[in-house]
Amino acid sequence: MVDKNKCIGCGTCVAICPVGAISLDGEGKAVIDRAKCIRCGACQSSCPVEAIDITK
Ligand code: SF4
Ligand code: SF4
Repeated sequence: MVDKNKCIGCGTCVAICPVGAISLDGEGKAVIDRAKCIRCGACQSSCPVEAIDITK
């Protein structure tokens, strides 16, 4: 769901997720908790580098 090669760790998706499903891992890359995600699409729309694809 998150392409770690593209993610720059800006934290935008973490801040915008309405259910707190995204966090940054030890390398500063976004990770989505699939159990919490409601697939609203907000993170995908907000990512400046298009690192997120929630259809995957
Ligand atoms: S699709 Fe919505 S609920 Fe799922 S991680 Fe992104 S912002 Fe959060
Ligand atoms: S918004 Fe995009 S670049 Fe920023 S932390 Fe999230 S996935 Fe990474």
